[in-house]
Amino acid sequence: MSIVVPVYNEVDNLPDLVARIGDAMAGSGFTFELIAVDDGSTDGSADLLERLAPQYPWLRPVILARNYGQSSALQAGFDRVRGRYVVTLDADLQNEPLDIPLLLQRLETDPNVDMVSGWRRERQDAAISRRLPSLIANRLISRATRVHLHDYGCALKAYRRPIIDRIRLYGELHRFIPSLARDAGARIAEMPVRHHPRTRGQSKYGIDRTFRVILDLVLIVFFMRYRQRPLHAFGGLGLWLATPGVLILAYLLALKIGGEPIGGRPLLIAAVMLILIGAQLVVAGLTGEMLMRVYHEGQGRPQYHVRAPAAADDAAPAPRAAPPRPAGAEAGEAG
Ligand code: UDP
Ligand code: MG
Repeated sequence: MSIVVPVYNEVDNLPDLVARIGDAMAGSGFTFELIAVDDGSTDGSADLLERLAPQYPWLRPVILARNYGQSSALQAGFDRVRGRYVVTLDADLQNEPLDIPLLLQRLETDPNVDMVSGWRRERQDAAISRRLPSLIANRLISRATRVHLHDYGCALKAYRRPIIDRIRLYGELHRFIPSLARDAGARIAEMPVRHHPRTRGQSKYGIDRTFRVILDLVLIVFFMRYRQRPLHAFGGLGLWLATPGVLILAYLLALKIGGEPIGGRPLLIAAVMLILIGAQLVVAGLTGEMLMRVYHEGQGRPQYHVRAPAAADDAAPAPRAAPPRPAGAEAGEAG
């Protein structure tokens, strides 16, 4: 199994983190690797990882060229995992490494669960600046994406490998991994995990993320509901606008035939605007349909995933990993 840890300026935490993960896994019976992704740290975290690696054969440092953010750091790790299971946690030791085997145990024993999400039931962060916004965010995201979890923000999570291969993290979407996983067909369970206060290093986030989270939520909801049918989203809205526009025009036409002048009426402008905007939205939806087809067909990405027994699924090539077909490779078709 593979453990992925994003690391950004955590030089004081790394020695303990690596040692404690090693201890936690030693008695667990799982063979494992720890992929520590240095996300452009400026405090020497990368050098330290390189120095630690020879001592721990299971430690694989990945050093990114600059700071890309937590999502990209996680994705860099996901792109390199080799295990059947994948576990993520933070580098700051707020998560308890001893919980890793417990999450894995759940995946091992419960074939109906593809992902176990940690729930920091006794969370050790500031109440007003961290826990309250996060409580609201959890409620909002649960409702909007219909994936009901107490704690979206907990970094400690465990997955079956196929789920990881199906999702891609852009921007700051690491906060929405359960929604993305659900979208990829995962059955998700929640499990209480331990949480410690941050004792060394600094948190990289503040309250300023509020608007970004809201925008990301719009993105996720759109993706979950409409990615495969953008015309229904845009075109639907378009028709809701254009239909009253047409009715108003018909009404004005009747007045005009009745001999009343309509040229100066604001209603005329409103009707024309509604129809124009509606038509634009339908076109946007059609453009979306084309993009969606390019995305799936051009890259060989299926728009569905099959729920197979874990063993069989592992054997199948990950759809995402399929390299783009070189031109002329399909001689039979070309000729
Ligand atoms: N992190 C990262 N890149 C960044 C910011 C953070 O890789 O640009 C890592 C960080 O080292 C930590 C994890 O992401 O392992 C979570 O960050 P942090 O603990 O600061 O967030 P918080 O727990 O305060 O939400
Ligand atoms: Mg933290």
